[in-house]
Amino acid sequence: MNKTKVLYEGKAKIVYETDEPDKLIVYFKDDATAGNGEKKGTIKDKGIINNKMSEFFFKLLKSNGIESHYLETVSEREMAVKSLRMIALEVIVRNVAAGSLAKRLGLPEGTPLNTPVLEYCYKNDELGDPMLNRYHIMALDLARVHELDDIEHISFCVNQLLINLLKSKNVKLIDFKLEFGRDEHDRIVLADEISPDNCRFWDATTNEKLDKDRFRRDMGGVEEAYHEILTRITA
Ligand code: ADP
Ligand code: UDP
Repeated sequence: MNKTKVLYEGKAKIVYETDEPDKLIVYFKDDATAGNGEKKGTIKDKGIINNKMSEFFFKLLKSNGIESHYLETVSEREMAVKSLRMIALEVIVRNVAAGSLAKRLGLPEGTPLNTPVLEYCYKNDELGDPMLNRYHIMALDLARVHELDDIEHISFCVNQLLINLLKSKNVKLIDFKLEFGRDEHDRIVLADEISPDNCRFWDATTNEKLDKDRFRRDMGGVEEAYHEILTRITA
């Protein structure tokens, strides 16, 4: 499989078309943004780490019956994936209050939630990814009810599998964001990445942050945290 042309360049990845029409190659960059693109920087080796961690989690999910777009790892920064028609939603699952939820509900960061919370955001940089509910999604024709049922089922399964795996690594899964697309049979398939860029990982003993919040909040030790969480998870 060979890359033919750039289909899309995003904030963290470049998506290439290939000589096989149903397959894409995703290249993971070191570029990092926060605050809807207001803060920009690079995190050395982030692309390598996010590619490795996504491969690890997509394989874990597959061995537990959850399909994703992942096909194979092509190089240290590249994976081949199924080409999907993406749904313009960010699906956030939360186990512990942090970030925007902590602010919105006035909860101290770190407050455990009685049940996992699932939120939808409209994936639209110009609008700053506003939060949506099922009615907005129907009204905008972004997805159908049965598709949202599938998205929610898969998202909660991913949550449980990741929580279980991370528990054995002394890591708490605070929250994460997933993206989904439709395949050639209109089936819902998990896409994008699962990495410290789109998950909050805290050390279960010290609550030390091992994710992109260190970059977002200028906490220092960003590269070390990315290396540490990859080693812990994949060791
Ligand atoms: P952003 O668009 O948020 O800046 P990235 O830099 O991560 O994000 O770019 C990757 C893009 O590729 C995203 O827009 C994502 O929705 C899209 N994408 C992820 N997986 C697939 C797939 N399997 N098929 C088509 N597009 C995908
Ligand atoms: N998230 C993401 N991309 C976004 C917004 C959020 O990957 O555009 C992830 C983020 O890493 C966290 C979860 O979604 O794991 C919840 O993020 P939150 O809404 O608290 O965002 P914040 O505004 O604090 O970044």
